[in-house]
Amino acid sequence: MARRKKVYEGKAKILYEGPEPGTLVQYFKDDATAFNAQKKDVIEGKGVLNNRLSEFFMTGLAQIGVPTHFLKRLNMREQLIRSVEIIPLEIIVRNIAAGTLSTRLGLEEGTALPRPIVEFCLKDDSLGDPLVAEEHIIAFGWASQQDLDDMVALALRVNDFMSGCMMAVGIKLVDFKIEVGRVWEGDYQRLILADEISPDSCRLWDVETGQKLDKDVFRRDLGNLADAYTEVARRLGVLPSNVTHATKPTLIN
Ligand code: 5GP
Repeated sequence: MARRKKVYEGKAKILYEGPEPGTLVQYFKDDATAFNAQKKDVIEGKGVLNNRLSEFFMTGLAQIGVPTHFLKRLNMREQLIRSVEIIPLEIIVRNIAAGTLSTRLGLEEGTALPRPIVEFCLKDDSLGDPLVAEEHIIAFGWASQQDLDDMVALALRVNDFMSGCMMAVGIKLVDFKIEVGRVWEGDYQRLILADEISPDSCRLWDVETGQKLDKDVFRRDLGNLADAYTEVARRLGVLPSNVTHATKPTLIN
């Protein structure tokens, strides 16, 4: 079989050319990075878990009418996705103060926010993905006013869906990051959810104990990251409940 052409390699994923025009294969690596890749490790099984969890969330979102790039899961580590033109912004939705919001505004972590807050960061590792205002986005042409309205609406729909999913299994959705991409359909263009949704890009806290079940376990050296992600997957029914060891997850097809 001919070797696939690598289109892009990021910190946690690789994109390969897909089997048909307009498609890509998204491969989930086991690599974990934090603090703009200053902290790095390989967490065995993380890619498998994130592939399956991202499939779970994207499929659920599509069922409630949120357009996504996800087409189908191909195997343990790969999924077929639509090729999109990525908007160079990270969209962050916050329900509870944590992370950089707490640091920036001096808010105690865990403080409930009066309403979901949507923030935009410029996707630029060399600058550390800085927070940007809508004024910057419009002035520098990273997205239009219509795109911004669509991104906020999409992000809030994702927040409602994800918060409900998580609360049903005893987990608080503290905050998360998404990315969106542009696709053309005939003369029309629209924005769809891209990248991934997984514990790598969310903050997830157990409702009862406050235990962190997301990438902060790695960022803050709080324990075994794969065990935390396995717990999220198990509660959501993505993995059978008898899986106790995170390094060799068994997937339900
Ligand atoms: P914070 O701004 O507090 O660091 O992050 C807010 C939320 O967005 C967290 O859930 C965090 O995991 C996610 N996030 C922010 N930047 C990135 C990023 O570059 N990559 C990933 N995977 N998630 C991010």
